[in-house]
Amino acid sequence: MKIYNTMSRKKEEFKPINPGEVKMYACGPTVYNFFHIGNARTFIIFDTIRRYLEYRGYKVNFVQNFTDIDDKMIKRANEEGITVKELGDRFIKEYYKDADGLNIERATTNPRATEFMDNIIKFVSDLIDKGYAYEVEGDVYFSTKKFKDYGKLSGQNIEDLQAGARISVDERKKDPMDFAIWKSEKPGEPSWKSPWGKGRPGWHIECSCMVHDLLGETIDIHGGGMDLIFPHHQNEIAQSEARTGKKFVNYWMHAAYLNIDNKKMSKSLNNFFTAREVLEMYSKDVIRFFMLSAHYRNQLNFSKDLLESAKSSVERIYNTIGNLESLLLEIKDNNNSKDEKDFEVKLQSYRDKYVEKMDDDFNTADAISVIFDLVKDINLNLNNNSSKKIVNDALELIRELGSPLGILQDSTKGSLEEKIEKLIEDRQKARKEKNWALADQIRDELNSRGIILEDTPKGVRWHLK
Ligand code: AMP
Ligand code: ZN
Repeated sequence: MKIYNTMSRKKEEFKPINPGEVKMYACGPTVYNFFHIGNARTFIIFDTIRRYLEYRGYKVNFVQNFTDIDDKMIKRANEEGITVKELGDRFIKEYYKDADGLNIERATTNPRATEFMDNIIKFVSDLIDKGYAYEVEGDVYFSTKKFKDYGKLSGQNIEDLQAGARISVDERKKDPMDFAIWKSEKPGEPSWKSPWGKGRPGWHIECSCMVHDLLGETIDIHGGGMDLIFPHHQNEIAQSEARTGKKFVNYWMHAAYLNIDNKKMSKSLNNFFTAREVLEMYSKDVIRFFMLSAHYRNQLNFSKDLLESAKSSVERIYNTIGNLESLLLEIKDNNNSKDEKDFEVKLQSYRDKYVEKMDDDFNTADAISVIFDLVKDINLNLNNNSSKKIVNDALELIRELGSPLGILQDSTKGSLEEKIEKLIEDRQKARKEKNWALADQIRDELNSRGIILEDTPKGVRWHLK
């Protein structure tokens, strides 16, 4: 399996630290609001990567944090007249509602920054003790010059960064590139006791700390959206490697942005949809299909046309699933078609192609094309002369290939049951009208689908043959 590593800017063969196990961390949401459809793209991408690694047999320990203390949290809580803790509790609940709605599996652990305060303080102390950080009047800064590879993740050296950055001049910093790992208390802000007085952590330190405490000194995969490469992930590397002296992350993965009308989605431009709003318009399968129809390192534009086209694609695949489910009811057990060996081999070749695409840096766009080719082939070749086994194998393969993408798992049985109930109703109506011919015709039709009707004093009951 190959993974594109932002650090080396190359696809590299994936070798986990412990065979068969993956330690993976993704930066999660700041829980001050409902998450938007751009955040949803990144969450769905890392959920898919995690699911695919599991499909390939790895045991995945997946941590995704909640940032529940920062400037945005404090501002929103003050506006609402509630505590930062209450705000966090509320939007963590809302996160799970929407994530469940999008069929995003729960991470192994979803830690909250505020639950790690003692460990964060210990982390900051260690950095001071090792000479990588310094305190000024209750604030603690990381000394970027002390960390030799600073800027490497974004492919820049410290001089480029200094020239390009709009750095707020803070007289107390030894160098303009230094960043805060501990911030002294300001009026109206929540704070925690520390050796440097009351205060709260900077943003980057929480991830370094939770990776360390929950996954270890070196982990396999760390990810997030592209915007996090610099400074967030660069600063995580500096803090973590300065503390342990060991390599922090083996594979850095970054998801490209979801844009809207080809522009950046942002709260300030107010040009975004929340995931919840989109879930009211489209099903989870349609949203995920749309998100995964582009490679995760390519930008994707959120447009109604693309969502509508995803919707019809998903419907086409579910039609085939529904047809296969109906065929399973119709086909007699002793149906045994001769030429099915070739088709079994073909099914396996679709599975192989799918794995080849996904093994190539999670190419979901091409993997989806493979599912489409499979569906076309099934539509052309399977019918009520096929055996139950091949129909079942085909159906299971569609489900299997949909599963790492988090799609195609819904049953169409509901709609099948509805169809049966409707036919039974039509038959009752025909009987009332003494249209015996039509009533018998409906009974025969149901019978040919393997459905037996029983007229009981309590009404009509049906069961499968
Ligand atoms: P935030 O809550 O802003 O910290 O973001 C949570 C995650 O969503 C981070 O990994 C961001 O990089 C990612 N993200 C934010 N905006 C977008 C976007 N428009 N498209 C894709 N990912 C995004
Ligand atoms: Zn992070």
